[in-house]
Amino acid sequence: MSKTKLKPQKMAIFKRTMPYAKKVKGFIFLTLVLCLIISLLNASTPFVTKRIIDTYLKNNQYDMVRYMIILYASLITLLAIFRYLFNIVNNLTGMKIEKMIRDDAIKKINHLPVDYFSLEPDGKIVAKITSDSNGVKMFYTTIFQIINAIMNITIVYISLLIIEPMLGLLMLIILPVIIVWITFYRRRVHKYYIQVRETSSRITGKYNELISASMMIEAYNQEEEMIEDFDELVWLNIKNDRKASTISNIFGFELLSLIKRLTEIFLLLYLGFNSLDVAGVTVTVGLIAVFSENLDKMINPINAIFMNLNELEDSLVAASRVYDYIDEEDDTRIFDGKELDKIDGNVEFKDITFSYVKGHPVLNKLNLNIKAGSRVGIVGHTGSGKSTLMNLLLAFNDYDDGNLLVDGKDIKEYNKESYRKELGIVLQNPALFYGTLKSNITMDRDYPDSEVIRVLDLVGASYMLNKTNLGINMPITFKGDNLSLGEKQLICFARIILRNPKIVVLDEASANIDSETEIRIKNAMDIVSKDRTTFIIAHRLSTIKDCDLIVVLDHGKIVGMGNHRSLYDDCIIYKDMYDSQYRNLKKDVIE
Ligand code: ATP
Ligand code: MG
Repeated sequence: MSKTKLKPQKMAIFKRTMPYAKKVKGFIFLTLVLCLIISLLNASTPFVTKRIIDTYLKNNQYDMVRYMIILYASLITLLAIFRYLFNIVNNLTGMKIEKMIRDDAIKKINHLPVDYFSLEPDGKIVAKITSDSNGVKMFYTTIFQIINAIMNITIVYISLLIIEPMLGLLMLIILPVIIVWITFYRRRVHKYYIQVRETSSRITGKYNELISASMMIEAYNQEEEMIEDFDELVWLNIKNDRKASTISNIFGFELLSLIKRLTEIFLLLYLGFNSLDVAGVTVTVGLIAVFSENLDKMINPINAIFMNLNELEDSLVAASRVYDYIDEEDDTRIFDGKELDKIDGNVEFKDITFSYVKGHPVLNKLNLNIKAGSRVGIVGHTGSGKSTLMNLLLAFNDYDDGNLLVDGKDIKEYNKESYRKELGIVLQNPALFYGTLKSNITMDRDYPDSEVIRVLDLVGASYMLNKTNLGINMPITFKGDNLSLGEKQLICFARIILRNPKIVVLDEASANIDSETEIRIKNAMDIVSKDRTTFIIAHRLSTIKDCDLIVVLDHGKIVGMGNHRSLYDDCIIYKDMYDSQYRNLKKDVIE
């Protein structure tokens, strides 16, 4: 990554972190104070060293030497304690910021438009909330590690100038050499680190694939191939990591130590072969010790800065991901509108146009007027726009043009929560939650058990009460994986009856289930659609044959409307669909 690219991003992330940082300013102030104390303590020890060697040892004042050694020990003990405190406070502040960001990220889930979830894989969203928000913490703590290192270098350097300006100047010659060298080294090793990061994220993706598609992998005997792919990636990762580590080991801190030692050797050799007077200053043993001690105290933080730059880059990428996510545009539709009293359930689509991709409308100037309480079947080939039409009614997507009226008023004028209370949905793959049969029907609202049993009975699912000894407290696992598809749908029907909304959308509620369950579902549909405006999307035309109105969609346009009989006579698409299903049915019977 080039520096010019990094800089503005760094600034943007920095600015974006500010509002969070402001909320923990007390902690930040404390961190800075600790940095200052550490730097001062760090810079103070060479003064003691010099005093011991050059004054007290030289004059045989051993009592004073003893005191000074105790002072030295106290200073480094304090230094250790303050460094420890610094790490604790710095991490704690980072964690506080991370917590605020996670809270915002979790809240964001409820404010995002539904499209966002269809475009962004679940795993990525989870990663943004968990690991990427950790990136902001890393960004924060790394910045303060770097500030700490810079403060240390500056104060140690000033102290060196105070002890002996000549040593300060000598250091000025060495430092650029070290900085140039570390920059060179980092560039080399950076290349491999990028590859390690890249392969690591691909390995995580593979994990996801292995777990989420485990049934498919087994069904298609793909286990070995998957493991081979996985092995290959892991090896690539190890290879790059090994290269990076090798460079790190050879050219990293060890070489830095070597440069430091060589500098010391050259200095000593110079002093040995020449006079002990350098540039008019008499070099004492104490001065040499101070130089060596300070060289350490400056090289270590420089190394720390460079090491932290890797982390900083990682954290910048992660932080920008979570910030982009938090700053996604909210779903602005029908949020603050009027509270909705009971509605009748009249629905009117008026010149509705909608596109997922600009310039490619999926629904085009569509008009449809449905009276309250009607039962409407929506049919059409796959991709014709049936689910899309319903998604607009369910306020999952926002239409580009036209009006969608419920009881004569545009749905955008309603308050979203109260509007959604009037809607019930059953989807082809129903969403169930970890909990119990009861919690999934009541959606964690308060209803007496007898009500829950009543609605289960109404939809013909009371047999489920005997599946375990726990009745309505039967546990439901993650996503309802311990139930069959038909059972999940029946639970959704029960949910609707309990909630009693005025508009119901059943999208493919009878697809892919056996004929016995189909009868159950059909009965449940009859009960659910009573006194409610019901939209039924079905590929199996037998399900919607006796609807009050059947709407035929094709390429986002209504190409036929009426009852089964009239459509069969007038709408060629409907007739073809019906005939082909009927033919298949007959074929099944003959076979
Ligand atoms: P099916 O009977 O298979 O469920 P459908 O009639 O419900 O089909 P829709 O899901 O409404 O069809 O899709 C209509 C068109 O919009 C299709 O061409 C589809 O590819 C496209 N589409 C659906 N969802 C999205 C999306 N989230 N982003 C972009 N395009 C989409
Ligand atoms: Mg669909």
